[in-house]
Order: sequence, then structure tokens, then C-alpha cells
Amino acid sequence: MANINSNFLNLENRYLFTEIERRKKLFMKENPDKDLIDMGVGDVTLPLCDEVIKAMHKAVDEMRCSDTFRGYGPEQGYKFLREKIREDYLEKGVELTTDEIFISDGAGNDLGNLNDILSADNKVLITDPVYPAYADINIMDGRNITFLAASEDNGFVPLPPAEKYDVIYICTPNNPTGAVYSYEQLADWVDYANENGSIIICDSAYESFVREDCPRSIYEIRGAKSCAIEICSYSKTAGFTGIRCGYTVIPKELVRDKVCLCDLWRRRQNSKTNGVSYITQRAAEAIYSNQGKKETRENIDFYLENAEIITKTMKKLGVKYTGGVNSPYIWIKCPETASGWDFFDLALEKANIVVTPGDGFGDNGKGYFRLTAFSTREKTLEAMKRMEKLL
Ligand code: PLP
Repeated sequence: MANINSNFLNLENRYLFTEIERRKKLFMKENPDKDLIDMGVGDVTLPLCDEVIKAMHKAVDEMRCSDTFRGYGPEQGYKFLREKIREDYLEKGVELTTDEIFISDGAGNDLGNLNDILSADNKVLITDPVYPAYADINIMDGRNITFLAASEDNGFVPLPPAEKYDVIYICTPNNPTGAVYSYEQLADWVDYANENGSIIICDSAYESFVREDCPRSIYEIRGAKSCAIEICSYSKTAGFTGIRCGYTVIPKELVRDKVCLCDLWRRRQNSKTNGVSYITQRAAEAIYSNQGKKETRENIDFYLENAEIITKTMKKLGVKYTGGVNSPYIWIKCPETASGWDFFDLALEKANIVVTPGDGFGDNGKGYFRLTAFSTREKTLEAMKRMEKLL
């Protein structure tokens, strides 16, 4: 008889967003006339920018001609896109070679896939509250996980502990707290990882929201190439949540057990993927043209303005919050002793707003809820009016 991977039985029964969706649907069924505003979900609302659409149309037309038709592409991604990413890093002062860059079908997928090349014996450190996938993918492999509190006390940017851990997940700008590591704080983690032979998996899915003087890539920190893997995504940068594209960087300097992880990952990719579609990669390439950069920046600025509307409301109400400056997420303290789920139900029933309860992001999320800036302007303004009445 075939055996299942019984580690899966250790996962929580319900994924956070599935439970939110269940409660939301139930409420709508019971209250069909209510105008519900979803301020919780992390999907984008603005469509793809013109430059991306034009590039996709052109790539589709190429597919109809035998001279320009493309079949299987390189597993690592087309050179034209990797070259643009290399140039983008150069603008941040980071020198990479194109063979250290791997095109992916999204950050979520590579986060999980990376565990293929890391031993299940590794001791894993994850900040809490956390994007739920980090914990889930490690529970699935039966890894030993320790959570490190990100709280008001440490400004939601916890620093390295005294104990040694093998694999550390860092998300900056952070989902769900919106907190961002400074150069000095990230340098502490890089030093810790190099001293202990650890690997940092740095999730930079929200780097394009950084507007202040803080790192957009972990490789801006000296020494990071010998200890960090960076995962990026076009999902929030350019509205690719449905298109699916991102990239992962594994520098050649990252060596453990005398093995270069970049080579190991390439070997894994050769066997397990046939890459991302040509049309998708041409769409991603378009983000890097001057016009593409302008259009995607305008979209991100729009979300950041929504974030400012939310933070201004919280300030006015005297409610404690973090994030919303270099990030589309605002992490807000619930009134008094309410748990995140209590507040979720209250906001749903009394203000007809969907928030994300902090509890779903880990123990340290208790007593918090998360709002996102991804809604429309009209809905964000209306939701804040309702919040003013509620809080
Ligand atoms: N990492 C973080 C921190 C996220 O918030 C998300 C999506 O919300 C992802 C990764 C997944 O990104 P992608 O759409 O590229 O799979």
C-alpha cells in the first residue's frame, strides 16, 4: 500500500483565506442587500498596464508565425528577461550574473519548491506574525520550526536570536505587518547567517513599494550573497497575480556542504519544470521599459495613496498601527481585548467590512487585524468612513 506524506495531517484544517471566504459568503447569503467592502484580501484591483498588454499582444502574434513561434523555452527563463532583471539589480548597486537569476511562475511556488534542495533536518526560524505559506510548506516536510516574535516591543522587525538556526525566512516589506528592515537591521541578519552557516530566504515580493531609504534587496547588504536566496514576484509590482511570473536569485557564492546552491537549483529546475510561457516573460520584460516602469510605478503610487488614507484615519482615531508607508499592508491593533476573529466578526456585522484577523498569521497576530491598500479609491474611502463610526 502506498503511504501518504503524513506531515500534511499536521497542517491546520483551514487555510486563513479559505475561512475568511467561508464567513464572508455566509454573511452575504444571510444579508444579500448589504454593500460589503473587502479590505482584507491581498489581490490587486488595477488592471495590467498598457505597456504589458502591448507586449503580450505582440508575443501572441509571434506565436502564429512559424518563423517566430516558440515552443519549450529555457527552464531558467529567457535571457531577455533575466538580462533586464540583472540591469534592475545594477540600479540598486547589486552585481549579479544572469545565470544566478531564475524566472518563476510566482513567489509562492518557488517558496515551496526551494525546500526540495534543503534538508528536512534543517532547523527553521520564522518571524511571527507570518505569511502563512512559510509555516505550511515547512510543516509539509516535517521540519522543526521555531517562531520569532515580531511585536510592538521590537517595532515588528525582530533581530537575530542567540540560538543557531539553519534556515531563516525574512519578508521585507513584511506581509502582514507592513514593517520594513533598515540597512543596519538586515545587516545583523546577514552577519548572523554567515557566522552560523545559515541560509536566509528573503521574500521581497513587496520591494517595489519601498519609497524611503531602506533596502529593496537583501543583496544591498555586504555579505548577503554568501548566505541569502531572494524571492521576487511581479504579482504586486505589476498586477501579475493572474498572469503568474516572478524570479528567484541564488548567487554562486552561496555554498553549503561544499555544494553551490545555484547549481543544485538549476539541476532541480531541469528535471521539474519546463519554465514559464514566452508570452508571460515578454509581458514581464515590458515592465522594465521606460514606459513600463512609469506605468507600474503609477499603479503602486495609487495603492500607496490608499494606504495613506487608511493610516491617516487610524492616526485620527488614535489607533495603534504599523506599516502602510513602504508597503500596501497596515497592521492595526484591535480595540481593547478583542481577538482578531472577534474584530473580524464585529467589522463584518456592524460596518460590513472584511478585514484579515491577525490570529491567522500566528500567535503574535492575536489582537491585531490587517487592512490592505489594494481596493479601489472609492471603496477605501467608504471603508474608512465606516471604520470611523466603528472604532
Ligand atoms: N510572498 C508574500 C509575502 C506574499 O504576500 C505573497 C502573496 O500575497 C506571495 C509571496 C505570493 O506571491 P505570488 O503571487 O508571486 O505567488
